[in-house]
Amino acid sequence: MPLLDMNELVAMAHKNDVMLPAYNTTNMEMTLAIMDAFEANGMPGVIQIAPTNVKLTGYDHIADVVHRALSGYTTPMALHLDHGKTLDDVRQAVNAGFTSIMIDGAALPFEENILFSRRAVDFCHASGVPVEAELGAIRGKEDDHVSEADCKTDPDQVAEFVERTGCDTLAVSIGNVHGLEDTPRIDLAHLAKIAAVSPCPLVLHGGSGIEYATIAAMKQHNMVKINIASDLRRAFIKSVADAQAANPNEANLARVLMDARAAVTAVARRTQLAINGMPCEGA
Ligand SMILES: [Zn+2]
Repeated sequence: MPLLDMNELVAMAHKNDVMLPAYNTTNMEMTLAIMDAFEANGMPGVIQIAPTNVKLTGYDHIADVVHRALSGYTTPMALHLDHGKTLDDVRQAVNAGFTSIMIDGAALPFEENILFSRRAVDFCHASGVPVEAELGAIRGKEDDHVSEADCKTDPDQVAEFVERTGCDTLAVSIGNVHGLEDTPRIDLAHLAKIAAVSPCPLVLHGGSGIEYATIAAMKQHNMVKINIASDLRRAFIKSVADAQAANPNEANLARVLMDARAAVTAVARRTQLAINGMPCEGA
């Protein structure tokens, strides 16, 4: 089936009372592994890529992989730009056929973030593409060590930010962190305060490393999309490393990559079920 845009996918998630995992891809094998997982689970989900990973291939390349593969899949999916940092990132992704965009102005002061995000929203909405914006807290000076987990979204700014940017979903900081180097300290009470005032559904970044039960508990606070990157990347890298460790002369790259794809699919399937509080046996 054709890709859905993020608003359509969010509506489907709400209808089915599930949250959407948004898995970060890097290359063709990761992309197909993620699509395999959604199909095997029969549950909707998001394939996403950030500009840091696009540089390996290109927006057109990833969009082509997804669009060519779609005829073999029946499960609803969206293709999302993760952490678009510039309007050029946004334009390239929309033009390549992405069906959802994130504009990341979270490091900017409040007013600048609004104006920057609004420009991305105006461009994307003209093409019918929904936008995720981010409202975090400005971190301390670079020479201070400030944990990302301590920088939380101010609930008092949420309604104004969403209304003035026109964003369709909002990424929030509630003690979550990116990557596996820092330790998340999720504050569900803070999330509840944000959810009470947010006019739009919410997005969690840095899903790897957070207890699945904690993520599952976010659904009642209007959380709909959970970004997960590191867990899938580790599964891919470990599978390739294991193949080399098992046979230092391993040269069957096709088999190694097929095994890596299967390893990513397995993690992606279990994670999708677990964050939705569903049993993972057999997945
Ligand atoms: Zn992120």
